[in-house]
Amino acid sequence: MGLPPQLTPDQRHQALLKAAGSRKRRAEVKAKIKTGEFSIDKILELAKEDEAVAKMRVRELLESLSGVGKVRAQSLMERLNISSSRRIQGLGRLQIGQLREEFMKSEHANSPGTLIVLSGPGGVGKSTVAQKVREASDFWVSVSATTRKPRNNEIEGHDYYFVSDEEFSRMINADEFLEWAEFAGNRYGTPQEQVEHALLLGKNVLLEIEIEGAKQVKAHLPQSILVFLEPPTWEELVARLEGRGTDSPERRAERLELAQEELAAAAFFDVVLINDQVESVVKKLVELTHN
Ligand code: 5GP
Repeated sequence: MGLPPQLTPDQRHQALLKAAGSRKRRAEVKAKIKTGEFSIDKILELAKEDEAVAKMRVRELLESLSGVGKVRAQSLMERLNISSSRRIQGLGRLQIGQLREEFMKSEHANSPGTLIVLSGPGGVGKSTVAQKVREASDFWVSVSATTRKPRNNEIEGHDYYFVSDEEFSRMINADEFLEWAEFAGNRYGTPQEQVEHALLLGKNVLLEIEIEGAKQVKAHLPQSILVFLEPPTWEELVARLEGRGTDSPERRAERLELAQEELAAAAFFDVVLINDQVESVVKKLVELTHN
């Protein structure tokens, strides 16, 4: 090996700055791996264009993953024939495939998020609860696609993805929904990929959907927890539906009739909560993720 090149003071200064920048970037990335924000897949992707990540040692990457200590990282590297000084950029195709497989498995097994499906009759206050959950917890709340027209204060991408009938049909045919259902003349569906991605990252996920959709989710993902939200009394539910000024009288009557049928579905659900106080419902939903 030849001697290291002689650097001018300026080149040396630049090299030190670059090294410090790379260290900082690696620390940032490791912190995101620890919190679960970055999956191993994301890191392997980043390494293609981010030199600081490409030069991170595989050992450092593995030890940053939640649930992987020094011992597990070392034994894994021995098993996959990865030398202890190997950097991410030096991983072979086969090793990348093996690492991916190993961690997709363990991310599912060790720390998948909990999927809670909040359902109940229309007008019971599901969307208010979902809004509070979004604000007051670290749940990831899914945004559905619907063919319904936006109400006054609704925001595209926050309340719903408002799509045309054609687009909704395309999404069904492309298998993009975890579930979908028709409700009071419109179609509503949960985009599958985002939900699965969030669960894979270990996030707790909340879906706020009607009852038929909730049953479909249970059939696909039996580990999901179906929560039925009940009004404190039937009179309360009628008052809430009547008070919704945005719907036509016909639509309100239709919703009332539907709500009556929907109330009978509680028996199918894993948990029934009475919506007497939004805060206490939110607290109970958070508690369900601790079991
Ligand atoms: P609204 O039109 O009042 O926003 O919602 C009508 C009903 O559709 C509510 O019961 C709501 O929970 C339900 N809903 C919203 N998004 C979805 C979804 O993605 N799938 C299903 N199945 N129902 C949904």
